[in-house]
Amino acid sequence: MSGLSPADAVPSGVRVLVVEDEPQIRTAITITLRATGYEVSTAANAADALVIARRHRPDVVLLDLGLPDHDGLHVIRQLRSWSDVPIVVLSGRTGCGDQVTALDAGADGYVTKPFSIPELLARLRATRRRTGPAHRTTEVDIGRTHVDFTTRSLTAVTDGTPQQLTRTEWDLLELLAGNPGRLMTYTELAHRI
Ligand code: CA
Repeated sequence: MSGLSPADAVPSGVRVLVVEDEPQIRTAITITLRATGYEVSTAANAADALVIARRHRPDVVLLDLGLPDHDGLHVIRQLRSWSDVPIVVLSGRTGCGDQVTALDAGADGYVTKPFSIPELLARLRATRRRTGPAHRTTEVDIGRTHVDFTTRSLTAVTDGTPQQLTRTEWDLLELLAGNPGRLMTYTELAHRI
């Protein structure tokens, strides 16, 4: 695959689930994403996609709309019943009605086949920026502490006394807050911070 540049590199540990029934396209996307630093799992149909999404908890899903067992829209609706994972739809359909339907069902982005690799990577980056932890969770109370991720300020809930965190502690807090309910290993945290 051509078209990769250093600017396309992503931190290791970002997990993508690629749902695509055409083996050549699936393989090409997988090779490219792995070369860029993503961790990739794959599914060739809707049923497998839903099982793997629950098991692997991907950070982003690339989803072909035309799948052999169910429509990709079914996958979007099922995922949205329990997950807010960013979903980028891949589709050969060119009618804008399909795009609107996919976005209404809960997709976050859309790439129309045939697409270029830089276009796909840019769409992935843009979707992750828009839906990343800092955007999903802006303010939260943890115990007696109020956390504002936008201004990176920490205050006591009771009297507003400011508290201090180091930069690394903030990064750690944002990462954990952006992955509720997910077990994160020391290795994974060390990689991503
Ligand atoms: Ca297909």
